[in-house]
Amino acid sequence: MKKVNPILIDTYKREHTYLRISLTERCNLRCTYCMPAEGIQLSPKSHIMSFDEIYTIAKTFVDHGVTKIRLTGGEPLVRKDAHIILEKLATLPVELALTTNAVNLERHIETLKNCHIKNINVSLDSLNAEKFKEITRRDYFDKVYNNILSLVAEGFNVKINAVLIKGFNDNEIIDFIELTKTLPVTVRFIEFMPFDGNKWDIKKMVSLKEILGITTNSFSKEKLIRLEDAKNDTSKNYKIKGYKGSFAIISSVTNPFCDSCNRLRLTANGHLKNCLFSAEESDLLTALRAGKSIETIIEKAIRLKAKMRGGMDTLEKLKTPDLHSKNRSMITIGG
Ligand code: SAM
Repeated sequence: MKKVNPILIDTYKREHTYLRISLTERCNLRCTYCMPAEGIQLSPKSHIMSFDEIYTIAKTFVDHGVTKIRLTGGEPLVRKDAHIILEKLATLPVELALTTNAVNLERHIETLKNCHIKNINVSLDSLNAEKFKEITRRDYFDKVYNNILSLVAEGFNVKINAVLIKGFNDNEIIDFIELTKTLPVTVRFIEFMPFDGNKWDIKKMVSLKEILGITTNSFSKEKLIRLEDAKNDTSKNYKIKGYKGSFAIISSVTNPFCDSCNRLRLTANGHLKNCLFSAEESDLLTALRAGKSIETIIEKAIRLKAKMRGGMDTLEKLKTPDLHSKNRSMITIGG
């Protein structure tokens, strides 16, 4: 196994081997839980990392021990040079993965195959085209659904991410699980998280406990199988006996997985975030452009990582708008 350089190890001995890079702040959907209704102020184009800069920063992390890079956004595939970035990063000794809304995925399948990308996470919050339109403010359900089917047919490992919102799509939990009867995908139910401008309210969140309650009401103990979780897994994994796929729950709010966190996030404007929930950022891009070392900035940022949820270590703190609204909206972090 590759040795992790101490600069990627924090004061709680967590080794950060997984980097998520946001390629852009732009998106072709307008998901209500992800971005404010009025939209976001985009960074000027000159402040966004070029493909060379993305490669240089990514390589620095890989040289120090990062073994997995996931590209995200905004919507990563709206970037015109997305294919160039994928091809350049594919030359690094790292597992490359992608999180996408799959709206334009059909144009990129060949590149993904050539870059040996196997693991693709697709966001899909409803199996109902009208509801999809309501939550994304765009009419692309058929495109997304068909692209998911194409990915499966092409042999990719597909995880479908569904953020559950009470009274909106929590009545689709069983429909999503039934999808795994014939489709070999993993459906991941995600607890709704608070970010700037997303009108988060804990009452709108569907918790791990509630999701499990709904599944145990529908499937017997013999049919509902708890799967083993992989190391650093953020999800609790399950399967219905005899079904081709599986499902999982990501409980960042009610049951966070900070102890085993190995993740770092690089925003499209080149800022390092040591935690999804932390408002603190470290500007790597300005240093890189000034010819300065980015290693010292990375090391400092990792040393400062809080033990839990960017310092919001209780649900009470997480519920305090003053604390969580200082953080960027999810569209500019990348999930
Ligand atoms: N455009 C890509 C996509 O749709 O997957 C990548 C970016 S998107 C911000 C990444 C993930 O963050 C998606 O799965 C989305 O559902 C999730 N997400 C966004 N806002 C969220 C929130 N408030 N709570 C939980 N998950 C959220």
